[in-house]
Amino acid sequence: MSFSQLGLSPELLRALEDAGYQTPSPIQSKAIPACLEGRDVLAAAQTGTGKTAGFTLPILERLSRQPRSGKRPVRALILTPTRELAAQIGESVEKYGVHLSPRLKSDVVYGGVKVNPQITRLRDGVDILVACPGRLLDLVGQKAVRLDEVETLVLDEADRMLDMGFIHDIKKILRLVPGKRQNLLFSATFSKEIRELAGTLLNDPVSIDVAPRNTAAESVDQSIYMVEKPQRMALLTHLITHHQWSQALVFTATKHMANRVTQHLQKAGITAAAIHGNKSQNARTAALSGFKSGEVQVMVATDVAARGIDISELPNVVNFELPKTPADYVHRIGRTGRAGASGQAVSLVMPDERGQLKQIEKLIGRPIPVASAEGFDFSRAVPETPDEREQRPRGGQRRQGSGQSRNGGGGGARSGNGGNRNGSGNRSRSDGNRDEQARPARRRRRSGPRTVDNSGNR
Ligand code: AMP
Repeated sequence: MSFSQLGLSPELLRALEDAGYQTPSPIQSKAIPACLEGRDVLAAAQTGTGKTAGFTLPILERLSRQPRSGKRPVRALILTPTRELAAQIGESVEKYGVHLSPRLKSDVVYGGVKVNPQITRLRDGVDILVACPGRLLDLVGQKAVRLDEVETLVLDEADRMLDMGFIHDIKKILRLVPGKRQNLLFSATFSKEIRELAGTLLNDPVSIDVAPRNTAAESVDQSIYMVEKPQRMALLTHLITHHQWSQALVFTATKHMANRVTQHLQKAGITAAAIHGNKSQNARTAALSGFKSGEVQVMVATDVAARGIDISELPNVVNFELPKTPADYVHRIGRTGRAGASGQAVSLVMPDERGQLKQIEKLIGRPIPVASAEGFDFSRAVPETPDEREQRPRGGQRRQGSGQSRNGGGGGARSGNGGNRNGSGNRSRSDGNRDEQARPARRRRRSGPRTVDNSGNR
């Protein structure tokens, strides 16, 4: 199958040639013809499958067949959970539409940045709008944009949007768009909630399932290291240096931990940058571009911040802490092993994370092999930080299983490696702040099904 067989105009084919794409990815072969026919689509696909071109190309094709001039209404609305993903989709729309004549106008809107420039830009109208739900509703409220001529609605990373508590915003947006429209829903995982949303949203959809659902990519080499808390930082540093990883994306559960890991790596002489919702948009953009260019060796990210980040052929993903949900694990390791490139996903698993590990293994349908950390001295413990001391139970008792005294002497860390999944410890972890879009606390409290920690340091 070639792109020219998919029904795309010569202008779009030229842009694909410029991008160096030779053949359509499986999702593109299936989604593009269905979208061009005007069908609704339900696609199981994560970042890395080429899904963005799968929906942006047919949108560009359809809209360019009926160009509008003057003040244009939004005719295609693409909803995404995060700013980074929105920006990437916006870039794709621009890239693929570059040779169209007349050009279609597109824009990207998300929270965390000033709203006025967005209002000014929207004044002249856009054909294709890529938006995060919260900011879009703000803009509609301020009468900066209308959605009553939307012909195609895309929900990208729909599972993520629901996880982040956007369901109420999505429902509001659904009331603002015309009833007769094309709907395209992309999701990496299919929970009951997603199936319910798909049931209400989609009309006789074409179902596309390019990767087995809820299954980790086959091309990703996955392994775990059983580790005690005081050894985690040292083990991470060891793995990066010992294996000479040129580019690694490290996931933490909280923003606070992302900062701490980053600082630790920097002290060890590794160029590292953190990316999370407490960072300004400029800092996030700078960290991402440094990472992409290779200047930054390790990027430490929370789940939300890393969502949808497209770094081609990212070789290493590390779960410094296991994610809250097994689906998040699939999302995380989906950052590597893309487009047939081999990738490695490594998880550091503490004794009290064994339950989460079991859930993950259940979801991916196989056990993840335990690796041995060649050359790493497991009796080595990193001094506890003031933060960790604060987390200790009252009375100054050290958590069970931490094993080491502050100065690294003590009774020695429990060995947790070499195929041994046993261990103890009762680390408690509160969930991170899910919504990193700098949305008002009022909406945040209302919209999320889960408890949100607004302390700002999680
Ligand atoms: P996505 O899954 O949409 O985030 O795309 C992942 C990456 O694959 C992006 O860097 C795209 O530029 C790239 N890509 C998309 N389609 C193709 C294709 N047909 N051939 C080669 N690369 C592609």
